[in-house]
Amino acid sequence: MADLGSYTNTSEILKKYQFRMQKKYGQNFLIDANILHKIVEAAQITREDCVLEIGPGIGTMTQYLAETAGQVIAVEIDRGLIPILQDTLSSYPNVTVLCEDILKVDLPALAEQSGGRPIKVVANLPYYITTPIIMALFESHMPLLSITVMVQSEVAERMQTGPGTKDYGALSLAVQYYAKPEIVARVPASCFLPRPNVDSTVVRLVRYEKPPVDAADEAFLFAVIRASFNQRRKTLANGLANAGGLGVTRGQVEEALEEMGLSKTVRGETLTLKQFSELSNRLLEMGA
Ligand code: SAM
Repeated sequence: MADLGSYTNTSEILKKYQFRMQKKYGQNFLIDANILHKIVEAAQITREDCVLEIGPGIGTMTQYLAETAGQVIAVEIDRGLIPILQDTLSSYPNVTVLCEDILKVDLPALAEQSGGRPIKVVANLPYYITTPIIMALFESHMPLLSITVMVQSEVAERMQTGPGTKDYGALSLAVQYYAKPEIVARVPASCFLPRPNVDSTVVRLVRYEKPPVDAADEAFLFAVIRASFNQRRKTLANGLANAGGLGVTRGQVEEALEEMGLSKTVRGETLTLKQFSELSNRLLEMGA
């Protein structure tokens, strides 16, 4: 039975194994059973599903996931947590724990371990690498149905924001391109041990079957988006021309922007996803 989601039981496990939390790995363990239920319910997990959990910690949410999913693959970077996970997950034969850095794992190869079942990602993410993890999951092209994750509230805002705001960036555009975001719950700091200094939010990203825009080359679209936001202060034409590897000149970008009815001095942060997609398609036609 899932029994770790409380201050008392979590503290006991930490004490038993003399485990010292590592700030560098963003370790803030969930100690609130209500929130754990809410996350698992929002992820709509059934026995048909394979769940990928990133950062199981001491296995608190893993136990809840194991009780509802057919299979759980949990990827944990901290070696020191592995003996604890072997203990707390010993009665769940449907869980596989891998001691790896999620940013270095071959995600499509990992997905093959699911026996062909599409993957649902569920995690209380380490906040120091939330954006790279979400981008990597989407861009990996693993068969992914949804991502239900605890993130810093500020990141949840960034996922939903549009052009012209300071939070608008590559993450906002990736989320809009791949999935429909929904806020599941706001989570106070008191639900974690230790308490984080920021507010947290659970979001659910349900992957679109087909992206809302027609990009001729998805990798190039995201290379253009990344280059635009890497050089936020520059005009888009300068930013893209200076970015190594895109193979476009300032003149080509200016020409494409004018054809789209935009000023050639426009900045990337004012373009919508549709405009980025059109721009990248035009640049490809020009030979980029
Ligand atoms: N799931 C647990 C819970 O909810 O109580 C722990 C969540 S804690 C916020 C984040 C977890 O991610 C920690 O266990 C941490 O060690 C792990 N982690 C951090 N960086 C990681 C990485 N690059 N790859 C895999 N796991 C990572």
